[in-house]
Amino acid sequence: MSAAPPDASHPTNFIRHWIDDDLASGKYAGRKWSGRPGTAASHAGAPTDPAKIRTRFPPEPNGYLHFGHAKSICLNFGLARDYDGVCHMRFDDTNPVKEDQEYVDSIIDSVKWLGFDWHAYGTEHQYYASDYFDLLYGFAELFVEKGLAYVDSQSAEEMRASRGSLKEPGKASPYRGRTPGENLALLRDMRDGKYPDGAHVLRLKIDMASPNINMRDPAIYRIRHADHHRTGGKWCVYPLYDYTHCISDALENITHSVCTLEFEDHRPLYDWVLAKLAEFGQLQVPLPQQIEFARLSLTYVVLSKRKLIQLVTEKHVSGWDDPRMPTLVGARRRGYTPAGFRLFAERIGVAKADSWIDYSTLEECMREDLNETAPRRVAVLDPLKLIIDNYPAGQEEECHAPNHPQKPDWGMRVNPFSGELWIEREDFMETPTKGYFRLFPGNKVRLRYGFVIECTGCDKDADGKVTAVHCNYFADSKSGTDGSNNYKVKGNIHWVSAKHAYAAEVRMYDRLFKVPHPGARRDGDLEGVERDFLEDMNPDSVKVITAYVEPLARNAKPEETFQFERHGYFIADRIDSQPGAPKFNRAVSLKDSWAPPKK
Ligand code: ATP
Ligand code: MG
Repeated sequence: MSAAPPDASHPTNFIRHWIDDDLASGKYAGRKWSGRPGTAASHAGAPTDPAKIRTRFPPEPNGYLHFGHAKSICLNFGLARDYDGVCHMRFDDTNPVKEDQEYVDSIIDSVKWLGFDWHAYGTEHQYYASDYFDLLYGFAELFVEKGLAYVDSQSAEEMRASRGSLKEPGKASPYRGRTPGENLALLRDMRDGKYPDGAHVLRLKIDMASPNINMRDPAIYRIRHADHHRTGGKWCVYPLYDYTHCISDALENITHSVCTLEFEDHRPLYDWVLAKLAEFGQLQVPLPQQIEFARLSLTYVVLSKRKLIQLVTEKHVSGWDDPRMPTLVGARRRGYTPAGFRLFAERIGVAKADSWIDYSTLEECMREDLNETAPRRVAVLDPLKLIIDNYPAGQEEECHAPNHPQKPDWGMRVNPFSGELWIEREDFMETPTKGYFRLFPGNKVRLRYGFVIECTGCDKDADGKVTAVHCNYFADSKSGTDGSNNYKVKGNIHWVSAKHAYAAEVRMYDRLFKVPHPGARRDGDLEGVERDFLEDMNPDSVKVITAYVEPLARNAKPEETFQFERHGYFIADRIDSQPGAPKFNRAVSLKDSWAPPKK
């Protein structure tokens, strides 16, 4: 057997060990694959499945993908890539009321943006649970015929009350004894629209006394008179998640069905449904294996769809793609990168127990990627005028700076220099504090990639606020010339020529929440009663400023990223930028200097 060895650059984990064992034993080697999902009969006689393993990423198209999904995407697509397999893009679209094509489109975009695709062996492995509605319904009739499912006509409350608890067994429904004939007739009437929503459900007949509540006759079909975004008005009964998911996996030849820990207690049901259908000859064996891992919990954000929807609908943010949102569309506008997410997923790994990852870990991954990929530019974010009194009036010249200090092959860029510059307000102090090496009267600094200057004083307004700094320059000190070595100065500050600079709108984004666990109790008890997470929003999560940027940045195309030297990484906004007039978003600062906002 020619199992591709796992790529040595990827740290191993318990899921990889599991796959290694399955490949070594040849567990899945004999599976057939007809070229598309289907029953045992449809795969029988087909060639051997060319994919060594099949995984899937199965979002419900009822919202936009968030950072937690990124972990699952990198994991599932990463496993398929490393083991010579395929990861299916599957939409788990069984709830017509909440789902929409808008979400499908955005999910596809985001997964592709992260760098993955599902084209393999001449097919797009993009599937929808709704593609299986006919099969799922047929299997439901089969369960009824075999006496393993019944129509329950109790109200939702009655059903809840008779389910029992962890300590008490459930009570059988009065309808549990219906005959297969009665059940089949009722189920067909349900399907044919003869009953209103909620009148009946179809339940599997497993074990009302099972210690696992999921096995106490779970509902698998309900009535919903609602149009579905793909099947329109064809159905008014829809299958439920636990029933749909395992069958979709099996029809698609999924080998390893990786999901988050809260499904661990559902695994017996997953296995029960598939084992029965295999026993009835409907599904190819060996069956898929569900494997659970710990979901991503990240500090300073919320990753619950319900909370994300609330942030959008109550307009606490500008939309799903607000750069402060922990969604992938938000991250993209923010200037976070696909490679940064992939690095993050690798670094946090997968574990079998839940834990919190600090937001700074994600930021550090973004920095690491952007440091490699972002050309350098200069921007003055808090401008103060610097006047070089001895610079010849009307003169201009060029200064040269590398596009990337560690990558000489990226070449040099030209920055115009003149007698009036913008410098950072914090780079001047009229009365310096101890250890301050930047501009103050009588001190010399180098204008980065330019000249050495000596500060001579400053202008102030009536309130004593400094309005301009004065200096003289040393004409023979230009960086890159022989004379420059004769000057030894401690301070090195950045600048842009006032006449040439591009005045850009820059959005200084910060964390959306000011505490690590938004909504958790003040005493830090994460399990305790939740407060309103909105109370923990950071009131200073965005500041819009006008910055002076070196003229070259005017040409930035949407989504071009830069390091604004000494400040951080910025991206030209893909939505609000105009040709020749980009607006910049701060993705992440250069160093981790986060502190909660002052009250
Ligand atoms: P819902 O509340 O709608 O169930 P969900 O966050 O589970 O929301 P899905 O669309 O069902 O969203 O998730 C798709 C896949 O992403 C699932 O396999 C799920 O396990 C995984 N996933 C969701 N949230 C996280 C997370 N925080 N960490 C890792 N994986 C996640
Ligand atoms: Mg889910």
